[in-house]
Amino acid sequence: MRKKIVAGNWKCNTTLQEGVELAKAVNELVVSKGDKDVVVVLGTPFTHLTKVVESVDASRVGVSAQNCAAEAKGAFTGEVSAEMVKSTGATYVILGHSERREYYNETSEILNKKVALTLENGLTPIYCCGEPLEIREAETQNDFVKKQLDETVFQLPVDEFKKLVIAYEPIWAIGTGKTASTEQAQDMLAFIRSLIADKFGKDIAEEISILYGGSCKASNAPELFSQPDIDGGLIGGASLKAEEFLGIINAY
Ligand code: PGA
Repeated sequence: MRKKIVAGNWKCNTTLQEGVELAKAVNELVVSKGDKDVVVVLGTPFTHLTKVVESVDASRVGVSAQNCAAEAKGAFTGEVSAEMVKSTGATYVILGHSERREYYNETSEILNKKVALTLENGLTPIYCCGEPLEIREAETQNDFVKKQLDETVFQLPVDEFKKLVIAYEPIWAIGTGKTASTEQAQDMLAFIRSLIADKFGKDIAEEISILYGGSCKASNAPELFSQPDIDGGLIGGASLKAEEFLGIINAY
């Protein structure tokens, strides 16, 4: 059985105080009424990690960074290493988000370093992929996503690859209120799973959790999560409201 995962991506939102309040509110709801079969993860700003880790029940709520440095340590002013993330008690790192690729020029080469450091530190990468609108309109999204994976995580040895969580987030659906249709999401996740099967074998493909992200909310999550290949969601805007986020967690 694959893990069902609902991961929040707070992006560059909340002060430390607001973030701790939000984490406490989510934690309380998850502990009292959350689906126990769902792994819940909070992707917070770096500055919040330690306090958020302290504010949640680790057996029910995991904590994630949204990025890490491509270097292990040293003279890289302003960077936060995977080892530093680990030292806060966080256990996941979101990598390759389209906003990082687009605004911070994260290439496949940079992402490969980040994935390697994340895994070396025993953290779980939530590795994002997904196409922009023009690629979807040209109907070449499968080739686009395959290339993103071929250049990066498909180069890992199988024992490393199987530690990953994959998140498919079509860029045109992120923060736009325009969710991919259930069919579009399911088709792409089934396609990604077939690529994993070709590359690493069917057993590994069956084990890997693949999430959908992009304007996922409590109202559309039940239909999305009912699909055979959708193992949960990476949630932006809707993860900033505790009740809404609980609705997504309980959407199965
Ligand atoms: P959204 O963002 O849910 O606000 O569309 C998703 C994401 O970027 O992870």
